[in-house]
Amino acid sequence: MSFAIAIDGPAAAGKGTISKAVAAHYGFAHLDTGLLYRAVGAKVRDGADPVEAAKALVAEDLDAAGLRTAEVAQAASRVAVNADVRAALVDFQRAFARRAGGAVLDGRDIGTVICPEAEAKLFVTASAEVRAARRYRELLERGADVTPEEVLADVRERDARDTDRAEAPMRPAEDATLIDTSAMSIEDAIAAAIAAVNARREET
Ligand code: C5P
Repeated sequence: MSFAIAIDGPAAAGKGTISKAVAAHYGFAHLDTGLLYRAVGAKVRDGADPVEAAKALVAEDLDAAGLRTAEVAQAASRVAVNADVRAALVDFQRAFARRAGGAVLDGRDIGTVICPEAEAKLFVTASAEVRAARRYRELLERGADVTPEEVLADVRERDARDTDRAEAPMRPAEDATLIDTSAMSIEDAIAAAIAAVNARREET
């Protein structure tokens, strides 16, 4: 039996942590689809053609070192506006969503484009200031040399590019449950996500 949970939202809203916790709770597989775009972005930064890089992507590419940097995030959001890059990544994501045993996919367009028929859809968000503060703390812990202002500008720039692009812009699906984590602990956000999925499971 397959059961797909789509979790979309902007950077640093908590969707990665929530997605992992939700997948562990139900024993489902988890795919962080941002890694697909990050892997393509990193290859393009190293000189590859974006569409060729997307077509040639293999699972091992998602384990490459250095995909979590702010520089690769920006490279990812630049390749993510390309319709041919997105098209090359669709089949892999759809097959993952329909695997037996259940799947959680997190990204920007899972509930709207990749898996509009997902059994449960969440849109996890938080204010840009709260997200930038979280991302700043994470980057400091990893020893990055950045200022809070730079991180906020980076978050806003990526939000704008992801929201305003013509192809698969970031937006909640009409039937997604919205979870604003601005004032929530991570435990509360995970509990809210599981409650929302349980409500959908009872309906299906
Ligand atoms: O989620 P993450 O921050 O790793 O995503 C990096 C970038 O990849 C995003 O800013 C976005 O441009 C792109 N992305 C996307 N669609 C997805 C996942 C990520 O366009 N489903």
